[in-house]
Amino acid sequence: MSEIKLYVMYAGRINLPDKGHMTPGLNVGEPISMPVYTYLIVHPKGLVLVDTGQEPGGPSVVEKEDRVVSRLKELGYSPGDIKYVIMTHLHVDHAAYMTEFPNGIFIVRKEELKAAWWSERCEHGYVYEHYKDTRDFRFFEPLDQEDFDVFMDGTVVCIDTKGHTRGHQSVVVKLKNTGNVVLVGDAASLKENLELGIQPGVCSNNWYAMQSLNKLKHLEENGYKLLFGHDIYQEKEIRLSPLYYD
Ligand SMILES: [Zn+2]
Repeated sequence: MSEIKLYVMYAGRINLPDKGHMTPGLNVGEPISMPVYTYLIVHPKGLVLVDTGQEPGGPSVVEKEDRVVSRLKELGYSPGDIKYVIMTHLHVDHAAYMTEFPNGIFIVRKEELKAAWWSERCEHGYVYEHYKDTRDFRFFEPLDQEDFDVFMDGTVVCIDTKGHTRGHQSVVVKLKNTGNVVLVGDAASLKENLELGIQPGVCSNNWYAMQSLNKLKHLEENGYKLLFGHDIYQEKEIRLSPLYYD
């Protein structure tokens, strides 16, 4: 297998007064300060960015160096170098700065685009300004349960993990030394969501969210390394850029 590198890029924190927001029914009233990430996959056929991070303000603490463009710069890249931009979903803490990548080809599930552009009143967490100017960008829009193989070589594959949002997806990356890694996103924001089978926060569809947790559990039991979207325990051991997984 050719050399592929995975960088986990720190994108600031979210400070919430109530961890129960992430684990409905559990940890209620307990404060949480959790990390936010974007990811860069360096593949021989091109660079892939996964998620574009968050802006400072409200519960989000984002230093200048935490912005995705700054993180890329630290690694010697500029936005124009990015070939594909995979969005796990379009929530506020994942989709800021999409407009910094007008030349990238975005890979976003069709249902996620529909949810973001025309949310139901119960679908919170989208910020229209983040994507309203991307309408003329180039998009691949995988459907339903479709697996989307980015380079058609099985090394970077977007899988359906809907439930947290209507069109949530996770990314499976095959690495030579580390093995199979899953960028889980918010299909399991915290390890607790997976371990205890608790839906990841307020979900657009709880039933699908549970199906997705089962799917991730199955991957984990088969040796896949799961990188959770916002886990505070995994944060202590995760390898952050400029270090990488290969
Ligand atoms: Zn989310």
